[in-house]
Amino acid sequence: MKEGTERKLIIDGKRLDGRGFEELRPIKIEIGVLKRADGSCYLEVGDNKVIAAVYGPREMHPRHAQDAKMAVIKYRYNMAPFSVDDRKRPGPDRRSVEISKVSREAFDPVIMKEYYPKMAIEVYVEMLQSDAGTRTAGINAASVALADAGIPMTDLVSSIAVGKIDGEVVLDLTGVEDNNGEADMPIAMIARTNTITALQMDGHLTKEEFKRGLKLAMGACHQIYELQRAALIERYSKSEGREEKKRD
Ligand code: UDP
Repeated sequence: MKEGTERKLIIDGKRLDGRGFEELRPIKIEIGVLKRADGSCYLEVGDNKVIAAVYGPREMHPRHAQDAKMAVIKYRYNMAPFSVDDRKRPGPDRRSVEISKVSREAFDPVIMKEYYPKMAIEVYVEMLQSDAGTRTAGINAASVALADAGIPMTDLVSSIAVGKIDGEVVLDLTGVEDNNGEADMPIAMIARTNTITALQMDGHLTKEEFKRGLKLAMGACHQIYELQRAALIERYSKSEGREEKKRD
């Protein structure tokens, strides 16, 4: 996020990709894409492409890091070197450690960890292609992959960012909007109960803009929740889906 607008991002009331202010990018969800994972999901939001893989519950290693009362959730967000314009140096950095922590905490209220003392539930989120909003795309994919793995959860988590470009509050920023805009605010929530489980803010919003942005993001999370739900219902309403999983 850079200060101020270096280039015009809204022309004749439309954004550069033709979207309205309150419009999401197209979302595609595919479930069970990885054979060796207990649960997996491939998800696209516009030009973002992400794979989430879930393993476990399985024994937590190293043992000294086990929790005698509940499962430990491990969440690793990783950006592939080829996922961005300038090659990203492989391996963890400050940004990926922060995103992993915030994303893990977004799932804390829904995963029923107390069912699995001393175990680990591992979530791997791999960004294959990035165009801003990758942490939120990762949370959406992880949520579906956790459900696919059969991890007991009270609900799904849905996530999206809102921001400010050319003085307007808009939904779901692209890379060019994020780089040249005034603010970016990713949120994660349990749509069914309207419970926010993560909220970050980069840049500045007035109180009014914040309220408007939050309302917009919460509405979008409801839409995303319906897409996640529909993808899971489609996958598990087919008996072949279940058979495939049993055979693996
Ligand atoms: N980005 C990049 N190189 C990096 C980190 C980020 O090109 O090392 C790009 C990438 O497209 C990413 C965007 O900048 O999606 C916005 O990154 P941010 O840290 O705001 O997180 P995100 O919006 O992806 O959750």
